[in-house]
Formats: sequence, C-alpha cells, structure tokens
Amino acid sequence: MIPYGRQSITEEDIAAVVEVLRSDWITQGPVIPRFERAVADYCGAQHALAVSHGTAALHLACLALGLGPGDSLWTSPITFVASANCARYCGAAVDFVDIDPQTYNISVSALRDKLEAAKSAGRLPKIVVPVHFAGQPCDMAEIAGLAREFGFFVLGDACHALGAEYQGGRVGNCEYADISVFSFHPVKSITTGEGGMLLTNDPVLHRRAALLRSHGISREGIPAEQGWYYEQHELGFNYRLTDLQAALGLSQLSRLEEFIARRRELAARYDAQLAGLPLQLPYQASGRTSARHLYPVQLKNAGTTRNWVYQALRGEGIGVNVHYIPVHTQPYYRQLGFHEGQFPVAEAYARQALSLPLYPGMTDEQQEQVVGCLQRLLS
Ligand SMILES: *Cc1c(COP(=O)(O)O)cnc(C)c1O
Repeated sequence: MIPYGRQSITEEDIAAVVEVLRSDWITQGPVIPRFERAVADYCGAQHALAVSHGTAALHLACLALGLGPGDSLWTSPITFVASANCARYCGAAVDFVDIDPQTYNISVSALRDKLEAAKSAGRLPKIVVPVHFAGQPCDMAEIAGLAREFGFFVLGDACHALGAEYQGGRVGNCEYADISVFSFHPVKSITTGEGGMLLTNDPVLHRRAALLRSHGISREGIPAEQGWYYEQHELGFNYRLTDLQAALGLSQLSRLEEFIARRRELAARYDAQLAGLPLQLPYQASGRTSARHLYPVQLKNAGTTRNWVYQALRGEGIGVNVHYIPVHTQPYYRQLGFHEGQFPVAEAYARQALSLPLYPGMTDEQQEQVVGCLQRLLS
C-alpha cells in the first residue's frame, strides 16, 4: 500500500537516538533545550517549548492565554479534532468559522462577519485558532488585524506547516500569532514519534506554559543547599517530551529543507500531470509557500462519487484518505448542539475531498502509479 503520508528515518536518526539511550538522561534532559533552540531559530521565534504531542501544545497554549469556563475559542471545521478539543479541556466553548473555498483555510470575510455579530451580542471569542491546512499559511496579517480590532488572541495551529513561508518569514515565527504550535507525529514535516512544540515571542506566555508542562512545579530561586526543595504553584500536567525523542527531532530537523523540497517537487508534478482531470487541485495563494503536508483534491465530476474513487484507489494499493470530516459534524460536537448545514463551504469541500499520497520518501514510480490510476478512473 502506498500510504498518504509516512515518516523518513535514516541510520543517522537511529544513531542519534541510540546515543541518548547510552547517556545518563533518557527523559527530559540536555537534548530538549537544544531541540527547542534549533526549532525556534529555524522559525525565527524567541521561545520554544517541547511537549509530548501537538495536542499538549494546543492545550498548554490555551491555558497560558488564560482560556477558561465562560470563554470561547473559534477555529476552522476543516482540521483535526484537537484544534477544537483544546478549548473543551479548559472548560471553554468552541465555535467554528467557515473556510475559504480556494485555500480551505479559515475565511477572513466569514471571520469578520461572525466577529461583528458576536460583538453586538457581547460574545467575542478569547482565542481564534487559524489552522494552516495542508501546510498553506492562513491570511495571518488580516487575522492579526482583526485580533487588534476585536481583541482576541491568535493561536496558530501550524501542525501541518513546519517549513512553510509567509511574506518572507517562516510559519512559527509568531509575527502574527501570540503562540504557534507544531506536531511531530509521523506524518508531519519532521517526526519524534509523538511530540509537539509551542513557540512564542512572549516570555511570560513561555514561562507559564513551561510551568504547566511539568505539574506546575517550579524550582526557580531555590538556594543550592536546598536542592531537594520544590514548589507546586498550579495544577499542571506531565506533558514532557523525552531526550530520546528530542534527539530524533534534532536529527530530522537537519533534513527538513530536503523533506520540504521533495514534497514541493512531488506536488508540482501532481499539479502538472493531473491538470486535465476533473479535479480541483490545491490552490497556492501568493506571498506564501506551502509546506505541502497534504495534497488535497476535490472531485469535480458529478458522475463519480468520492467513495467510489476512494474504494477504487484503495483497491489498487493507493492509500488515499479524507482530511477532514468537518469537526462540527462529529458526534461529540453534535451533542453540543452543532449540526450539518452550519458551515456549508467546509461541508461541500469535505464531501468531495481526497488526499493523495505525498511524503518525502515517495518515489517517482509510486507517484506515476497514483497518477496512472487517477487517469484511468476519471478520464
Ligand atoms: C496532527 C495535528 C494535531 C495534533 O497533533 P498530535 O501531535 O497528534 O497531538 C493538531 N492539529 C492538526 C491540524 C494536526 O494535523
């Protein structure tokens, strides 16, 4: 089966992990701050905090921004459920904003309309989470403008977008976001198995998230003769990453540019070779470069259903997938009062969507097989 996404692990990656295994530290030790510094420098952000997964980064970001009961967080329905669940962990409400039909990212005009209505009703969100879907950066300058006008925090879900660029800077530099988060799940730009990171330029947010990463326990300001002493100030979590994972992450990071270049090369070949088929291919907005986490297409031929094409491709050993089932239609969110029909652009996209295989280790021959199958099925 050609999967839709997959990690790339080399002997160097394995050696980096083994080296840590032979050292004194295998949980959070000296490699963690090196990995944090390397990702922060790569992105051009001041501070970074490595955590156990992207979901933990989202949760800590919400807590650091003060989200709690009575507050609300808005995000896109076309995302992984974690972008919304992080608010529920904090006892806050979730709402969604429909997507742009071209980029599939949160629509700035829909966001403005919803903010104006919420302002009149006195129900503005505390946090908006733009998700850089498929690796394509959202309209961050416009969203930051709305944040100033209406007074909310911007939490960038950059789990797809490590390696993406926006207006000459890297996604994750937090020029337009209070906090940005990455995931290092195996299908993402680089992997640590499970893993995530929170980036910010605000030292107070960084410090708050760091405290909550490790039980709310602080050893700051404790004299050396009382090395045994610690204080728990808040109810935190164990959201630490291990040095084993950080070593893998550092080793992977050294190949990030190569990974992204190969993803872009494969995406450009799909663009060229699928152009004649009844498919809506991914749109590349100007002034930004996608990290090409996914290659999502929409079927445009009314005679073929998405499920038929999905089954036919799977039958040929091609592991296409759907990103995503709109979050508001999940049973958990329906039970909170959401229903089909609320976000029609997102729902129409999701009905026809398929993500084609795309990952750095994909060979030209594998891609030709995918293209050949699509040509046979759709022309
Ligand atoms: C992968 C992903 C997450 C969650 O990351 P984990 O590391 O799996 O917890 C959150 N948001 C989006 C958009 C993702 O793709």
